Amino acid sequence: MFSNLKTHPADKILALMQLYKDDPRPNKIDLGVGVYKDATGLTPVMRAVKAAEKQLWEQETTKTYVALAGDPGFADAMVDMVLAGAVARENVAAAATPGGTGACRQAFEMVKMANPDARIFVSNPTWPNHLSILKHLNMPVVEYRYFDAESRGVDFEGMLADLQQVKAGDVVLLHGCCHNPTGANLNLTQWQAVVDVLLKTGGVPMIDLAYQGFGDGLDEDAAATRLVASSVPECLIAASCSKNFGIYRERTGILMAVAQDKGLRTLTQGTLNYLNRQNYSFPPDHGARLVTMILNDPKLRTEWATELEEVRLSMLNLRQQMADELQRLSGSDRFGFIAQHRGMFSRLGTTPEMVERLRAEHAIYMVGDSRLNIAGLNSTTVPILAKAIVDTGI
Ligand code: PMP
Repeated sequence: MFSNLKTHPADKILALMQLYKDDPRPNKIDLGVGVYKDATGLTPVMRAVKAAEKQLWEQETTKTYVALAGDPGFADAMVDMVLAGAVARENVAAAATPGGTGACRQAFEMVKMANPDARIFVSNPTWPNHLSILKHLNMPVVEYRYFDAESRGVDFEGMLADLQQVKAGDVVLLHGCCHNPTGANLNLTQWQAVVDVLLKTGGVPMIDLAYQGFGDGLDEDAAATRLVASSVPECLIAASCSKNFGIYRERTGILMAVAQDKGLRTLTQGTLNYLNRQNYSFPPDHGARLVTMILNDPKLRTEWATELEEVRLSMLNLRQQMADELQRLSGSDRFGFIAQHRGMFSRLGTTPEMVERLRAEHAIYMVGDSRLNIAGLNSTTVPILAKAIVDTGI
């Protein structure tokens, strides 16, 4: 039986991680995988997470099952962090999932159940795993223009024009903040224009919020999500706690479905519970419990928000250093976009050949589409990367 299986292409980013590991050059720089790293290259356990884990170890008396949708306290805390009262709580169905990936997967499956004809509109480019899960589920995908190769910002005219093709019941997948892989984002005026198109076409927005707190701040990064959720009749939100709580391996995320009324909320909640039951039964609890403890305890919450802010500012600082250094070395402003982008990533907008040359000649590893992880840099490697970029003629 097993011999009938087909081989699957290796995930490009994970394959790159292996290449990096095997590279013997001591000065190699890893700007590949999307994990936050501090100046020493470490992905730390956040202080508040450590403190919450200690408390949990002391206080937890059972490991019995919780509930199909996870702990209701987790849903309350997350709905509050993401939506902050933008919509009535009683209209929001929510289920804990294994990470933001699990939330995306459950969202797609629910869309398929609700409307088998739904097409999923995705930005070009988008997080590759969106495409790979949609392909696995055999769901039709339509790309909308997003990245402007010239300015390295958003091709907003192109995006709006493409979204006119949306039909009622189609889903429009949007990155709530810190677009992966480009780093280019809409401003709030542009988000309002997207809302207008959604209202006109009847498209259902699905927001992937994987980096709340990594761009302009916790509330600022959720502003677009709140605007959309409060403006349209129905929307889906897949939120991840992997990055902003630094709990990648705990697999903590949540899928929220904002419904028009309490009745539809109940129907949707039943489906979310059902989907969890079919796919993995009870979602992981450990990470979700830590997040709930942190968000509900003023002292832990302050400690967490302070550290998250340090992380955010360190990335902004690296962006500015990088843009300044490139300006100095190239004598042009053409790399200013690096300081404008937000989140962990920037797309340089160069060719796979140039990316390969950076790897071969300079031991600098970035994804083939020229996405670089800003958090993989530090003040020592910024000038090295800037010089390599200019020397390579990018
Ligand atoms: N969406 C996007 C856009 C992402 O970049 C990621 C993380 N790479 C996720 C969702 C999900 O992450 P996780 O499953 O680790 O929470």
